[in-house]
Parts: sequence; C-alpha cells; structure tokens
Amino acid sequence: MDIAAFIRHVPDYPKPGILFYDITPLLASPEAFGEVIGRMADAARPLRPTRVVAAEARGFLFAAPLAQRLGVGLAPVRKPGKLPCAAFEVSYDLEYGSNTLCLHKDALAPADRVLIVDDVLATGGTVDAMIRLVGRSGATVAGCCMLMELDALGGRTVLGDIPLSVLLHV
Ligand code: IMP
Repeated sequence: MDIAAFIRHVPDYPKPGILFYDITPLLASPEAFGEVIGRMADAARPLRPTRVVAAEARGFLFAAPLAQRLGVGLAPVRKPGKLPCAAFEVSYDLEYGSNTLCLHKDALAPADRVLIVDDVLATGGTVDAMIRLVGRSGATVAGCCMLMELDALGGRTVLGDIPLSVLLHV
C-alpha cells in the first residue's frame, strides 16, 4: 500500500512559505492507518521496548494503538499544567519563543526500554525534549518510530546512536 498517497500537502500552513503534511486522510482510512500501525510495530518489536512515550497531540494518535499492539504501556508527554501529578519538565527553543514538555515522574522505571513515537520528525526539537525527559526518569531510549521525516531539516542528528525507524521520507 502507498502510504504517501494518504498524506495531504498543504502549502502556506500554518504560515506563508511552510508546506504542511496533513495526516487526516490517513486517519480517515482504517486500512491505511492499520497498515501504518502494523509497519511501526514490525519495526519496533526487535528493539524490545517496555514502554511507549509520545507527545501531544498528534503523537498520541499513533502511540496509543502502537503500544496496544506491542503489549506495552504508554506514557504521555504533555504541555505544562496538563498532568495531574509531579512531573519532570524540559524546555526547548523554537524559531520564535520556546516550548515546555512534561512527563510524570513515576511514568517510567530505570529498567524501562522506551520507544519514542511521533508523526513527524522535523527539526528534532520535540524528540530531543522527549529523550531528555526519558533521561530524567533514568530509563533508556531503545529507539524512535516516526511516520514521516522531513529530510532537509536534518532533525535525526539529535538522535545520535539511537535507532530510528521512519515509514516515509519527504
Ligand atoms: P520538530 O520538533 O521540529 O521535529 O517538529 C516535530 C513536531 O512538529 C511533531 O510533533 C509534529 O506533530 C509537528 N510537525 C512539524 N511539521 C509538521 C507537518 O508538516 N505536519 C504535521 N506535523 C508537523
């Protein structure tokens, strides 16, 4: 199945000059979405993850069915003020301003092997923040699984030696 056919290209969103990759056609197709989760699970199993970590909002869409398929728990990463219990916080710079992401302090154990999941790897800022949150928990990042990588932005350099699986390169 051609997964790329289910990604809509939206020019000048969210601002002029940006080409946005819209996953809503993929989500609208149970066959294509099921195929994506199956391929992600096949790529992730050899990494032997014990937890999936993903950030709101689009990361959750892939991480929840994938964690279920792998038979492991999901630890959600959220914006400040959204998690009810004590949380680690890390911040990262954006083109304009900065973002903060949070993870419950008891979400991971030091023995956990974590699979980080997201829809798009762009500059790598989001995945880098998730890697730092996993590190604060004392757990290990076993690998990352992304639907799409925007190759020209070079975000994968933040991963160093961490294994990365990508279904689509654009
Ligand atoms: P990064 O932090 O620059 O790597 O951006 C990755 C994050 O931005 C992911 O969590 C994506 O959900 C979001 N993102 C960036 N570009 C796109 C896009 O073209 N389509 C959908 N999401 C995007």
